[in-house]
Amino acid sequence: MSRKLIRNAHIVSIDPQVGVIPRGDILIEGSKIAAIGVDLAVGDAEIIEGAGRIAIPGFVDTHRHTWQALLRATGADWTLAQYFAGVRGVMGDLYTPDDMKIGNHLGAIAALDAGITTLYDWSHNNNTPDHASAAVEGLMAAGMRAVFGYGNSNAEWVPVSDKPTNFADVERVRRAYFSSDDQLVTMGFAARGNQFATLPVTRDDFTRARDLGLRISVHMGDGLWGMNKPIVQLHGAGLTGPDVTYVHCNSLQAEDFRLIGATGGTASIAPELELHMGHGFPPTLALLAVGVRPSISIDVVTTVPDDMFSAMRALLAGTRAVVNHQALQDRVIVDPLPLMATDVLEFATLQGAIACGLGHKTGSLTVGKEADIVLLNTNALNLMPMNNAYGIVVEAAHAGNVETVIVAGKVRKRDFKLVDFDTLGFRAKVEAARDGLFAKAGVPADGSWLPRPFEAATDSEF
Ligand SMILES: [Zn+2]
Repeated sequence: MSRKLIRNAHIVSIDPQVGVIPRGDILIEGSKIAAIGVDLAVGDAEIIEGAGRIAIPGFVDTHRHTWQALLRATGADWTLAQYFAGVRGVMGDLYTPDDMKIGNHLGAIAALDAGITTLYDWSHNNNTPDHASAAVEGLMAAGMRAVFGYGNSNAEWVPVSDKPTNFADVERVRRAYFSSDDQLVTMGFAARGNQFATLPVTRDDFTRARDLGLRISVHMGDGLWGMNKPIVQLHGAGLTGPDVTYVHCNSLQAEDFRLIGATGGTASIAPELELHMGHGFPPTLALLAVGVRPSISIDVVTTVPDDMFSAMRALLAGTRAVVNHQALQDRVIVDPLPLMATDVLEFATLQGAIACGLGHKTGSLTVGKEADIVLLNTNALNLMPMNNAYGIVVEAAHAGNVETVIVAGKVRKRDFKLVDFDTLGFRAKVEAARDGLFAKAGVPADGSWLPRPFEAATDSEF
């Protein structure tokens, strides 16, 4: 069994029993963390220098439409309604299976490069069985921990959809790629839910996904598309439960939030994207008030960057902005601030793992868990002097500080470079796929394409 020792790192474990160790060692045996402590006596391990580095658990992105990596930054100036029009109305149908594979591979490997070791691929452009297979294969090619969230075809997404899910294909994918739930990449179900599909279709989706043993992720409370108490309706149909992750939650009502907490659900906030596109302010405090500690997600790189650093800062600033703005109106001083860097780093790691159903495997530096570890090199101008480790990670670091990435005990990035990956060779494939898509669409990729907003179904829940 291979043994590796990360020596003398500043360990931020996110495990309350372990805490922060300013100079400590992490022993990795095979895929797992075997020991954490000071001056571990280890004979024959490969040494990974940790001095001058902060060791954190790998980040967990709990919701990303990974296939859209080929459309990176083309929606930099789009609202949510323009995104629906551009991505769903134009691009979704144009994707070939090969585009799905390259898009997923690009999105996943770029996430890994930025220190995200677990990715929930919210895959909702599975237009044919070949598309779904290609998406799975592109995701698996990145060599990271992931959940493939099977989520319908482009055509099945036009709201309010009464089209049934092709469960024969969901079952095929389950059998062909995910016979075990103990793999590096596992499977979930990414449901349209009752904002985007009818209630009978939603009932069928939830029931059949559960029959296949799949956890469910569903968008709820995204701007105008989520203001009519969708979770109250979902609960009324008997479909809520601890196996459901609610994505966004920005425009939900108090009764919706209460039901998430009462039924043991989990949440995924995509703060940076939501602030840009008009979903609403981060619902962080409303979730905390009902006992739900949220996870964080990127959502789409059509608008926002690949990395969790940017998303963590958006969550912290966006959440504080709401409270600070109210205090200004009331002419009072906020003390203390309502959310801390310690909370946000836990959201971006441990809570993400829990939302993916992987809390027993990853999300913290804990003996017995899988060794999913990121080292940030603090010998960088933007990180010196190294004062407050949580503050440094959440409020000072960026993806360029990610020096080492380890997934299940395997070093996937070393000395700031991905292991066994030819970035320039891959770029040629990526650009060819991009060129094909934009040529078929007949639109420019330079940012001048501003689609007409899609406005239908904003009152779809009732
Ligand atoms: Zn989404």
